[in-house]
Amino acid sequence: MRAELLDWYDAHGRSLPWRETSDPYAIWVSEVMCQQTRVDTAIPYYHRFLERFPTAQALADASEDDVLAAWSGLGYYRRARMLHAGVKEMVASYGGELPRDPAARLALPGVGRYTAGALGSIAFGLPEPIVDGNVARVLSRVFRIETMLGKAATEKALWAHAEELVQGPRPGDFNQALMELGALVCTPKSPSCGACPWAERCEAREAGIQETLPVPRKKKKPTEVSLTAVVATRGRGAAREVFLTKREEGELFAGLWMVPMVESPPTQLELGERGASSGGDEALRCLHEHGLRATIGDRCGSVIHVLSHRRYSVQVYRATAAKAAAKSAVTRHRIDALAELGVARLTEKIVDAALPGER
Ligand code: SF4
Repeated sequence: MRAELLDWYDAHGRSLPWRETSDPYAIWVSEVMCQQTRVDTAIPYYHRFLERFPTAQALADASEDDVLAAWSGLGYYRRARMLHAGVKEMVASYGGELPRDPAARLALPGVGRYTAGALGSIAFGLPEPIVDGNVARVLSRVFRIETMLGKAATEKALWAHAEELVQGPRPGDFNQALMELGALVCTPKSPSCGACPWAERCEAREAGIQETLPVPRKKKKPTEVSLTAVVATRGRGAAREVFLTKREEGELFAGLWMVPMVESPPTQLELGERGASSGGDEALRCLHEHGLRATIGDRCGSVIHVLSHRRYSVQVYRATAAKAAAKSAVTRHRIDALAELGVARLTEKIVDAALPGER
């Protein structure tokens, strides 16, 4: 099975920038970026990130703001913060060298079983397994695993197959081949079984049930979160400045710059839809809680933002800030420079709702 897959990979694998390096740090960056992001999207970010932080030492020395700014647009910012923390630890404890010992690698912040295995196999050529979404799909089909993803028995079976298959020559290429097969051939819908090197061995294909596997996890309904946001500005045109606050550790969107926001009871907001008064009260409370002196203006509508586990419904208000406007936690930033800060996509949507076309 290994030889068949490796032959297929040698003939059909894509040439991707991180497949042309043996630098464990660069491979680590690519692995983190490609979690939850499409490869095509990740490529330009990968180049830019490594230009800005070419070595583990450079990333370890960088401020969190700079790291989040370089990540800006990729989303799932927690990944960037964990990568930063992991690389800092590697520099502090191992002189910037990724440890070969699997347990030491796994103990680095942000390094789970998947990342540890990807780094061990790709950077060091060690026979360590990986299971990500693509691998889980391929293995579920080839070995006809009909239990639900996420269940202990399913995970155990997937990792056991991955562990067994990775033993042998070129373990790093083998793992990448497995992911590549899932990305290019054994796709979630309409897998191209005719082009698959494992077609003759695939139990799901033989039974004609390949499209029903893997059995997906039950999706939890995202939690509804109602917020009121105030886009307070000073100045006009290109010189216009927006007041932002950096979200603290333990808060939603920790480490990112956002416009001042408060969580609001949905009933208040429903009332606010009909008459501005109660929503306006929430906007005033938002200013007060952030120590910002400003005059509330129009309500500019609402923004919906859905993440995997939460659905945000944000009532957006405009405000004009007073001269000595804020306490130190809220600072002014030029509206045309937001892209250089670590700004969450939600902040961009909110600013766009309040000040269309100005960002
Ligand atoms: S034969 Fe089809 S279902 Fe089975 S592994 Fe190959 S592409 Fe996937």
